[in-house]
Amino acid sequence: MPPEKQTFFDEILYTLEQANRHLNLPPAIYERLRRPRRSLIVSLPVQMDDSTVRYFTGYRVQYDFARGPAKGGVRYHPRVNLDEVTALAALMTWKCAVVDIPFGGAKGGVDCDTTTMSRDEIKRLTRRYTYEIGILIGPEIDIPAPDMYTDEQVMAWMMDTYSMMKGYAVPGVVTGKPVCIGGSLGRNKATSAGLVTTVMEALKYLGIAPNGLSVTVLGFGKVGYHAAKILYDMGIKVIGVADSKGALYNPQGIDIDAAFAHKTEHGRLGGYNGAQEMSIDELLSVESDVLIPAALEGQIHAGNVGSIKTKILAEGANNPVTNEADSVLRKKGVFVIPGILANAGGVVVSYFEWVQDLQRFFWTEKEINDRLDSIMIKAFKEVLTVSIDRAVDMRTAAMIVAVKRVAEAVMVRGLYP
Ligand code: NAD
Repeated sequence: MPPEKQTFFDEILYTLEQANRHLNLPPAIYERLRRPRRSLIVSLPVQMDDSTVRYFTGYRVQYDFARGPAKGGVRYHPRVNLDEVTALAALMTWKCAVVDIPFGGAKGGVDCDTTTMSRDEIKRLTRRYTYEIGILIGPEIDIPAPDMYTDEQVMAWMMDTYSMMKGYAVPGVVTGKPVCIGGSLGRNKATSAGLVTTVMEALKYLGIAPNGLSVTVLGFGKVGYHAAKILYDMGIKVIGVADSKGALYNPQGIDIDAAFAHKTEHGRLGGYNGAQEMSIDELLSVESDVLIPAALEGQIHAGNVGSIKTKILAEGANNPVTNEADSVLRKKGVFVIPGILANAGGVVVSYFEWVQDLQRFFWTEKEINDRLDSIMIKAFKEVLTVSIDRAVDMRTAAMIVAVKRVAEAVMVRGLYP
């Protein structure tokens, strides 16, 4: 059993430990994989609309560079802290390795509440943050992207600020930016498209037919909304959705277009009259074939895992299930597709965006979607094979695949100097 009351980064180190039980890495290599390479904390003075100056704290953690430049999103959220950013940077390292793209892992964030800030305040915060972390980002070093409460406009401001510092346009410094400044077609729904591909592969493996399937999605942002929309467009019944303020449930299926239009107009799912309103914990206890947590980490924990009734849990969010809850899900026989695999589609298309920016040559959406699909299917099959061969769950199998790739790169490069 995993220890209780761990920090988020402790949780990630525990999964590394589980993988190493199978890999038996040399102690010095294992120790290296337990430590972030660089962590930067910056103080951000920002002029607010009322002319006062507020101070925010920003972070950028570069976890590993062994396989290529570091890569990872930027999160704006009041509870962002060094432990969370370090954990997310470690996850990015494993995620890039599990889908075998040539990146290391990084993550950034600022402890701010964008829901109480104006667009201008967010813009000034973003520009100052980019300036402060500008000493260690760049297309060959570390490439940020959107995460919770950041979007393609934030990426456009980051790209512009970095380009101003350099004196020329540097589109490859961030991914997830608007198409008109070097963004990639297909990026906005890539995480969700990749996630749906892994769910379809899991259904095939488990011998479950997609028709008649019911799905619940927690989180109705970039990942949650697009996942629900793709499934809805495939004719699959999405019976439950939730945002930070509450949940909707309709056993006949929710009209995702109408719920999205309601959320866009009112800023919340609550009040939509095509479904029953309930709390997020109530929705978690509703039976569905597939559950997709796509909001914050740790949302499924020892306190609520007992009520979960699902066959497949596909992690749209990063680490939405605590290690303690994960062991309960295993005992219940739930097939968990871990986030480092299930939500890797975003970083795969970010990689495509970076390649296109460096080459100044852009691909069609079909090329992007086809390549994304084949990478996700290959990664799913590789992880599944390890899971079957070693008789381990999919999370441990994904970590075995990922950690082995990173460790090989570290060992073949050798210790400097
Ligand atoms: P987002 O800011 O676009 O959306 C977050 C959504 O979660 C919002 O709808 C918000 O209302 C909802 N939410 C917040 N707290 C909640 C709660 N307690 N219960 C239910 N819903 C809640 O963020 P996003 O980009 O969709 O990211 C969601 C998760 O997916 C994060 O864990 C992120 O790290 C992960 N992720 C994102 C990407 C990406 O490409 N954006 C890629 C991989 C993983």
